[in-house]
Amino acid sequence: MINILELLNNPQMNPEKYFEVMRDFRKGGLNPEMYPEFIETIKQLPRLGQRRTSDFHIFDKFNLIDISEDDFAVIMREMQRRGIQKSKKCWHPEASSTTCNINAEGNIIVSAAHSIQNNGVLSKIVESGHVMGYSLDKVPFDGKKLGKDHASIFWGFCNTHDSIFRPIEISPYTGSLEQHFLFAYRGFVVAVHKKIEVSNWINFGDQADNDIIENKKIFDKAILDKDYSVIETQVFELSAFYPIAVSSSFYLEFDFEGNPIEHSDDRIEAIFVTLLPTDNRTYFLLSYFLQDKKLYGNLGNQLRSRNNLKSDITVLLAAHVENIYFNPTYYNTFIKEQEDLLETVFLEAQLDEGLINVNGEITVNQSFTPPNYLNNPYRVNFFGY
Ligand SMILES: [Zn+2]
Repeated sequence: MINILELLNNPQMNPEKYFEVMRDFRKGGLNPEMYPEFIETIKQLPRLGQRRTSDFHIFDKFNLIDISEDDFAVIMREMQRRGIQKSKKCWHPEASSTTCNINAEGNIIVSAAHSIQNNGVLSKIVESGHVMGYSLDKVPFDGKKLGKDHASIFWGFCNTHDSIFRPIEISPYTGSLEQHFLFAYRGFVVAVHKKIEVSNWINFGDQADNDIIENKKIFDKAILDKDYSVIETQVFELSAFYPIAVSSSFYLEFDFEGNPIEHSDDRIEAIFVTLLPTDNRTYFLLSYFLQDKKLYGNLGNQLRSRNNLKSDITVLLAAHVENIYFNPTYYNTFIKEQEDLLETVFLEAQLDEGLINVNGEITVNQSFTPPNYLNNPYRVNFFGY
């Protein structure tokens, strides 16, 4: 079968987004003239889960051709660009055309917000204007040199509302409730904003949409009430400067002892993580909503009693976080040699499979994450000294 048609058999993909780019770039035999008929033909396929290879003969009339790896990379980049364009928005709870920064036409101007403090943290790890981040758009998983001013930006706030982060952008880290809240909030927005960008072509299902809405409600109310106690943060300290910065959010299926963490269906409870290098120490902030303490409170106790902080923080971040930045020399000295292992750790933790019911809908996301992965079986280590 022509490789682009295989996209149609993956319930976790939204193949039309790929096809639109191929149409516009005239790749794979797609072009604007035949496109409407091509889309109509897709609708004639039997439902997902009931398709046989022979059903795809209905596409023979189009003279489709396989996409090369190089072309696929071009298509991916364009899809990412379109995803970013489409998902620009101001996340602030008071965002509106009267309170946001707007242009002459009255449209909100979303600016490039930093997901990592620009002057406080990025400036500490930058080298010749660059930091290292992950490049996930190609295999194998490898580091990518990024301009400091482009690293870690996301299009998630207007200029006016981006100032909410001033207490962590301008003031030094003091560990106040407000700062911890803002670190957690930024980790949340960065992670879900990225998810929305890629949801243009990846189908995360209704649960993921719902989780974003429900978590946002809790943050929004706290911002409006200035009630920062909705977030609880456990602080861990490494007694050296490590030029690594992280801001992200995810949920855990298992704790450090391999016990399953049972989530509710209404809102899959998340943790928010920050890695914050200062002059002579590095802080790891583990945050969660106070109302989720019963699920995640014990994680901090486990981290303390295991007394294996470098390994534990590494595996937690390596398995779940893409928004991570390193000093380039540090990366080449300590991280580069672990690239293959890091890829394995990340992919194993993300591995799941959508199961399809008779209506062609995803019913269960069955996870294949190994319960013991937080024991760091591959011995990855971000902390080189
Ligand atoms: Zn705004």
